[in-house]
Amino acid sequence: MASVTSAKPPAVEDIAAQLTEAVLEHRLQPGAKLREDEVGEIFGVSRTLVRQALRAMAYEGLLTIEKNRGAFVAKPTLKEAREVFQARALLEPTTARAAAERTTDADIALLEQHIEEEHAALHRDEAGRALKLSGDFHLEIARIADQHTIEQFLRQLVARSSLVIALYWRRRNALCESNAHHALVDALRGGDGDSAEELMKGHLMDIFSQLDLRDRDEGTTSLKDALKR
Ligand SMILES: [Zn+2]
Repeated sequence: MASVTSAKPPAVEDIAAQLTEAVLEHRLQPGAKLREDEVGEIFGVSRTLVRQALRAMAYEGLLTIEKNRGAFVAKPTLKEAREVFQARALLEPTTARAAAERTTDADIALLEQHIEEEHAALHRDEAGRALKLSGDFHLEIARIADQHTIEQFLRQLVARSSLVIALYWRRRNALCESNAHHALVDALRGGDGDSAEELMKGHLMDIFSQLDLRDRDEGTTSLKDALKR
């Protein structure tokens, strides 16, 4: 990942990516406030850039921006957690079926690379990055299906479910079980739409059933500490 102290000031995407990782790795707790001036100071950038980064994250559902109060790490409720997965279960199985009809060798190579990078991130103990990559895998399938509108919806749903997973995951190590992704790649490679649809349905149900949907207390960390690695 890009260093906070590199000579060139980070771009909006870098700031958003680092903050996103901090959120997904629970270094920034749900409900934590992100002050523009503080974030700007840490990254050495203007508040205008910070605001753009925060807005991008709010668009993905990772932050909520409250008028006159500022930006806070989103804290999805149990109801929202359920809704996010219900919405995904409506969209993704048929998208996977559509993808199976048009997957190219290049697509397969890309998906396999995704799985590999996810494993590498897990081995480096970068749970936030691994979570992001495993979400991107799902977006790739929508892209392969050439379903642009669904891909846009999914971008928000996936970001939100990453937050839900980070919040409610029962066994964080279980993330490594990407057998489901391998099986999906096999179905896509074989152009097997029936299997792709079924596998995606089962995969989403599995993830949801791995969540421990009970309320919990959150600790507090300073923004500076949260961004330290
Ligand atoms: Zn997955």
